[in-house]
Amino acid sequence: MLGKEIPVHTPKWKLWQIVILLAVCTVVAVPSGADDAASGIVDSQTFLKKNLTPAGPPASASAAAVEKLLGQMTLKEKIGQMTQQMTQLEIGMVTDGMDQSIRINSEKLHKAVAEYGVGSIINVHDQALSSEKWHEIIRAIQEEAKKTRLRVPVLYGIDTIHGPNYIVEGTLFPQPLAMAATWNPELMLRGSQIAAAETRKAGIPWSFSPVLDAGRQPLWSRLWETFGEDTYLATVMGVATVRGYEGSDLSNPASVSASLKHYVGYSYPTTGGDRSPALIPENTLHEYFLPTFAAAVKAGAHTVMVNSSEVNGIPGHANGYLLKDVLRGELGLQGFVVSDWADIKKLVNVHHVAANEKEATRIAVLAGIDMSMVPSDYSFSNLLLELAQEGKVPASRIDEAVRRILTVKYQLGLFEDPLRGIDSKTVIGSPESRQVSLEAARESITLLKNENHTLPLAKASRVLVTGPDADSLIPLNNGWTYTWQGDRASAYPKDRATILKAIQEKISATNVTYVPGTTYNKEVDIAKAAEAAVKADAVVICLGEWAYAETPGNIPDLTLPDAQLNLALRILETKKPVILVLTEGRPRIISRIADAANAILMAYNPSNEGGQAIADVLFGDVNPSGKLPITYPRSPNRLFTYDHKVFEGEGGGEGKAMAAAQFEFGSGLSYTSFSYSDLRVRRL
Ligand code: BGC
Repeated sequence: MLGKEIPVHTPKWKLWQIVILLAVCTVVAVPSGADDAASGIVDSQTFLKKNLTPAGPPASASAAAVEKLLGQMTLKEKIGQMTQQMTQLEIGMVTDGMDQSIRINSEKLHKAVAEYGVGSIINVHDQALSSEKWHEIIRAIQEEAKKTRLRVPVLYGIDTIHGPNYIVEGTLFPQPLAMAATWNPELMLRGSQIAAAETRKAGIPWSFSPVLDAGRQPLWSRLWETFGEDTYLATVMGVATVRGYEGSDLSNPASVSASLKHYVGYSYPTTGGDRSPALIPENTLHEYFLPTFAAAVKAGAHTVMVNSSEVNGIPGHANGYLLKDVLRGELGLQGFVVSDWADIKKLVNVHHVAANEKEATRIAVLAGIDMSMVPSDYSFSNLLLELAQEGKVPASRIDEAVRRILTVKYQLGLFEDPLRGIDSKTVIGSPESRQVSLEAARESITLLKNENHTLPLAKASRVLVTGPDADSLIPLNNGWTYTWQGDRASAYPKDRATILKAIQEKISATNVTYVPGTTYNKEVDIAKAAEAAVKADAVVICLGEWAYAETPGNIPDLTLPDAQLNLALRILETKKPVILVLTEGRPRIISRIADAANAILMAYNPSNEGGQAIADVLFGDVNPSGKLPITYPRSPNRLFTYDHKVFEGEGGGEGKAMAAAQFEFGSGLSYTSFSYSDLRVRRL
């Protein structure tokens, strides 16, 4: 305990980490003599068993009502149900204005809901809205739906990647990669329950998450949306999310439907570029990429979103084998399948498997797409109507898709009350919910190096805080935060502490000097930072990434930009104790500075409470307990996962050094010394 007062903050259930680190999934290691229930240890197997139960009522409960309704619908009304539109794009589909001044355009709304009968509407343009604004919009949409012949409610869907990130007051949680680093499914479950209740309180019953893509390509710009590289850990966290969202009854005012995405193989692009092709052998697909989806379907998830890109040369939206034989046949999905963003159109101009959009529509619907996310026009509805009238898409296929969509609407309770949730007792962004987020941030932070007990720092230390990520909430959050790219500073709350502010609050501003040193990739005042370092007892260098989401986050090289490395190298010359704090969505290579740094904290994207959590760990108020859910690479051309095969040349000497990771999967120190003994392995 380093002779300092440090509360031990390592929850007991974390012993289940040993399950993965010591054993394969079919065995559980427990300390000798311990009885799981009596010891309070929640092992992951028990968690999985308990949570692989779908939310009721089953689809059969609404079958008669669905059939009756289907029987009354015209072909055009059915096709409307299969169409999903944006709330607003550049040209606006149902609204005018943007951000907080957005308002429903009744003519556009009438066209979408009454004329085209769209089944679903999604997202924001472009900034998170207050819950009052959401109520105004959702009410208007559902009112319009009530005026239609069959009064079928509209299913509103939204991206909630780390909590309700499109509701101004919503509780945001660490991004999924950080949540995985907690190795705490109960916390994931609790966070997802809060996210669901707050989303439904805004009137929105459908969430486009969890991302169940295996995070096995560290360059990929969406790595931080995943639960990391280990299939089992991602499976447990995915199931926790689905259970948290869907609860025991989807029609509960605190439940939303999950959407498992992006089925399947999207996360493994050969070049690392978002939405670029993957080559995945069948055995690898089944071993690493499908199990997360299989478990989440078993846990009852009601919808699935499809991979925009292609696997083994076949676009996700044209892959009947994966969408029908595997997803329905093997995995047993009952709910419906939604396309990703404009992806039917992309079968023509990106994938080149269809001569025109009409052909693309036929291919996608026959392959198994039930609902098309058409962001900015009505081409899908028009073309599918023509195809059906020409007999090129059978009526039975359309009925099948619409049946699935209507069933989910029934299960969500939308026919009884399309505004369900709006009047619930949920308080959006309550202090209790923020506390859960803080807890998650604290449990995620991963201490990767701590030479000579550099950490925790004494609270009487004079500290220099430097680096581009020190004084902003943006890198603490990353993309999908108030805006798609998460980089609009004005959208962030004013009352949350950055890392700098949290350190100042903890040890008093007089003991803290701040010099930015660099921006993300440009030197600003490195010499000044080095001068200040000389006068400090320790230097906290906050490095990492800025915010990005999807394709705009593509990079050609994982190495941290030179400006940041130069800042650290210059500070290291002063020989002062250096603590690197990394806020980043993927493991940016730091081999030029890692060996010389005295301590390294990986903070991922811990969200709005992350500044405080980082300060708590730096100064010993919290004992770090996070474990890396990915392998941290040492060099840009040696990207591998923990379960890669070691070849002859990598076995020893030079080859072994070349094959070494910077930090292994599962790494994570604490301020306490643990010794494990007398372990036994029990076969389940
Ligand atoms: C992303 C999805 C997201 C959808 C709707 C797409 O570009 O790939 O993950 O759910 O947009 O915002």
